[in-house]
Amino acid sequence: MAKSVYQLKCSCNNYPWGKTGSDSLAARLCAETPGTDFKIDESKDYAEMWMGTYPELPSYVLETGENLQDVIDANAEQLIGKAVLEKFGHSDLPFLPKVLSIAKALPLQLHPNKELAAKLHEKDPSNFTDPNHKPEIALALGPFEAFCGFKPLASIYRLLELEPLQQFLPKNKESSFTDKSLKAVVKAMLEASDEVVAKTNNSLQRLPIEAFGDDQYILDLLPRLSEQYDKSDNGTLVALITMNYMQLNKGDSIYIPADGIHAYLSGDIIECMARSNNVLNTGFCPRAERNSIDMFTSVLTFTPHNIEEALLKPEQFALSTSKGKTLLYAPPMSEFNMISTELVEGEKETIEKIAGPSILIVTQGKGEMKVGEESFTLAEGFVFFIGQGVETSFQASGHLQMFRAFVE
Ligand SMILES: [Zn+2]
Repeated sequence: MAKSVYQLKCSCNNYPWGKTGSDSLAARLCAETPGTDFKIDESKDYAEMWMGTYPELPSYVLETGENLQDVIDANAEQLIGKAVLEKFGHSDLPFLPKVLSIAKALPLQLHPNKELAAKLHEKDPSNFTDPNHKPEIALALGPFEAFCGFKPLASIYRLLELEPLQQFLPKNKESSFTDKSLKAVVKAMLEASDEVVAKTNNSLQRLPIEAFGDDQYILDLLPRLSEQYDKSDNGTLVALITMNYMQLNKGDSIYIPADGIHAYLSGDIIECMARSNNVLNTGFCPRAERNSIDMFTSVLTFTPHNIEEALLKPEQFALSTSKGKTLLYAPPMSEFNMISTELVEGEKETIEKIAGPSILIVTQGKGEMKVGEESFTLAEGFVFFIGQGVETSFQASGHLQMFRAFVE
């Protein structure tokens, strides 16, 4: 019988929107792994720490250096469990948790649905590395700003009536402003030339603040985004005029469905997604890196359509024996759920058997985890793979914060 718990060695990528050097929580957490060869280079940007078995940046078993997926494949029934194996038809870990440290806007993006992902993967496997959809959740570890989904139609229309934006309204005006009209507006904004975007942004900046009604943040964010990218970046218009701007705090979470438009702006977050790395980008990145605007707008979903709908509310976790120390974030889909556990010094928690694999990361504090007769030291940045069907108990020896992604 294989072991049930493996401490992992993870790594971080260097996308240019990441925080620099030790400012990046993702990099700091990676560097905390005992005996790791990961060293922070203070001149580099560190964006995403990946935990799991996606081939681009896989995790390794700390003790033996084996690729985690190889260990899972060799012991699939024990570690993943029959039910999960049957559900997905393979022993690849079906979810991918990450820690993101965001210094500036990520590309304005969506992750294609299963049907489009399968098509793109077949045509262009080097850019679309798998046929799967990629719904995701983002959980704030502190202050977190994000653009997520669309504002209510009435709010968007009110902004479009501002003189500099009227050019983006559909020409053959229909009787009411619908999602179909919104799609045309997004397309027009994405197709606008550098000159038109820059000119529009300049004109918006000259409007009095009252002109923006409830959306006065636009005047603060416009120069900020223009500095991060450029006044001519099409993403600025789409994000500021049509999308929900959300300021979240520790413990808040958002859910992005497949085909959902989003762009994260700043903060440290835990993210979890279905096993996929497919993305369509259309703004907040150089023109050469943008995907087809037609494809992007053709699959756009109009959910969520307000801030409330974008939030993913946590609930009590049924397999927790404590009261209120472990919360469940369950997105409306099947690939994964996430739990967060927070314990103050001396507090204990037991999580009963979960009928599928999980990955646990300690983001703060220290303590101990017991699984059967074995005990494991918990400290900031420690990451574990936990096989299905084992009870795990925890005791904090300092304020302890952990996140655990799992599937059942
Ligand atoms: Zn995304």
